[in-house]
Amino acid sequence: MQLTLNNINKGYGNPDSNAFRAVISNLNWKVESGDRIGIIGPSGSGKSTLLNLIGTLDRPDTGKILFNNEDINHLGNNELANFRNRNLGFVFQQHFLLPQITLHENVLLPLIPDGTANNPDKRKWAEYLLRKTGIWEQRWQKPSQLSGGECQRTAVVRAMINKPQLILADEPTGALDTENADILSDLLISLSKDEGVTLIAVTHSGDLAQKLDKVYHLVDGKLSK
Ligand code: ADP
Ligand code: MG
Repeated sequence: MQLTLNNINKGYGNPDSNAFRAVISNLNWKVESGDRIGIIGPSGSGKSTLLNLIGTLDRPDTGKILFNNEDINHLGNNELANFRNRNLGFVFQQHFLLPQITLHENVLLPLIPDGTANNPDKRKWAEYLLRKTGIWEQRWQKPSQLSGGECQRTAVVRAMINKPQLILADEPTGALDTENADILSDLLISLSKDEGVTLIAVTHSGDLAQKLDKVYHLVDGKLSK
């Protein structure tokens, strides 16, 4: 996996005035395979905006994002959805599990577009991940029957189910108590190491940042070490 951001700009207009606020400014960045990166910065500095651009949930105003040397912003919306599902895993501050279905069904959901949810190898992989994250015994329960920490670990399994090349985590421990935050941080790092998945995590938590190999500050729309 190689990710390259070339001269990225992104900003927002204000509908009540002609004001335009630049959030990401002429940002150049390279992420190499296996990097485990933290991004920190004050609230409103553009951390989520940056992650959403990398995750193709949003498009830059100008500039190019290359994923394995392919310009991903040329892709249409359907192609982008496929690209995301195959290559990227997302973990947000909220778990965004579907409340009507079990944990097991939730983690298999990303396999449905490719029709592989019943594939025995995928089932084994799901079992491995559910055991590793300590929620195998709870797999037939629904999210409302679980703790916040268990739900967030389920979200990590869902993010890993397609063996992504890159995990994007936006304050993944932000809604957890210290103990669960610690468990989740360790899980993200150990899965990233074991599976060779690159990890970019926006974090307020000093604990998670300390466990990552490189930490960048987002200031004035740019990243600095
Ligand atoms: P962070 O994640 O660092 O707290 P965000 O990326 O969420 O920051 O937001 C950066 C800035 O961009 C903030 O000033 C925010 O209000 C603004 N912003 C984010 N998304 C939008 C949007 N869809 N429309 C208008 N302004 C936005
Ligand atoms: Mg944010």
